[in-house]
Amino acid sequence: MFVRTFPTGPLGCNCSIVGDLESKQAIVIDPGGDLPLIERELEAAELQVVAIVHTHTHIDHVGATAPLQRKSGAEAMIHEADRFLYDMLPVQAALLRIDLPEKCEMVGKLNDGFSISLGGFELGVLHTPGHTPGSVCFHCRAGSDSIVFSGDTLFQRSIGRTDLWGGDSALILRSIRERLLTLDDDVPVIPGHGGATSIGAERAHNPFLRR
Ligand SMILES: [Zn+2]
Ligand SMILES: [Zn+2]
Repeated sequence: MFVRTFPTGPLGCNCSIVGDLESKQAIVIDPGGDLPLIERELEAAELQVVAIVHTHTHIDHVGATAPLQRKSGAEAMIHEADRFLYDMLPVQAALLRIDLPEKCEMVGKLNDGFSISLGGFELGVLHTPGHTPGSVCFHCRAGSDSIVFSGDTLFQRSIGRTDLWGGDSALILRSIRERLLTLDDDVPVIPGHGGATSIGAERAHNPFLRR
């Protein structure tokens, strides 16, 4: 399983490329901006994008989605419960003072349990509402290898804000406890912003998860 993560766009959203080096196919998670950077990373690994998925639909996570979708022909997907956020991108752009990105068709199929298989690995969807109603985490598995992309639900020693549209502070804690902390301690976690962590490190040290 090929994994590459790098910050993109005005708020440093972590974009990740998860690929299968045999079939040369890849999934792009949260293309927040900087399309040329994403394309360079794909080219360097000789990977073709076959799916574009989003941990949620805040504007800083979808900045390069439309041009990447158009150029690759890959399907772009969100959880349907975040549709309203894509419909109100101009409002998000105004509040967060970010340029309004182009739009494309977003397919609302990232339901809990949905999965995409590429060669040797599988990306599975965990619905983890709270940061937004349609927030999801991606659990990627290849044999005994496993990694979680937690979006803005779980950060290194922090959790996502819940004061934006549709946020729910009780729900985000429940999502983290019931869907993420139930995974093994040694599973690496790539959050939507900032550095990487692990399930065990957050279980032990995240101040928002005490009590
Ligand atoms: Zn967000
Ligand atoms: Zn974000």
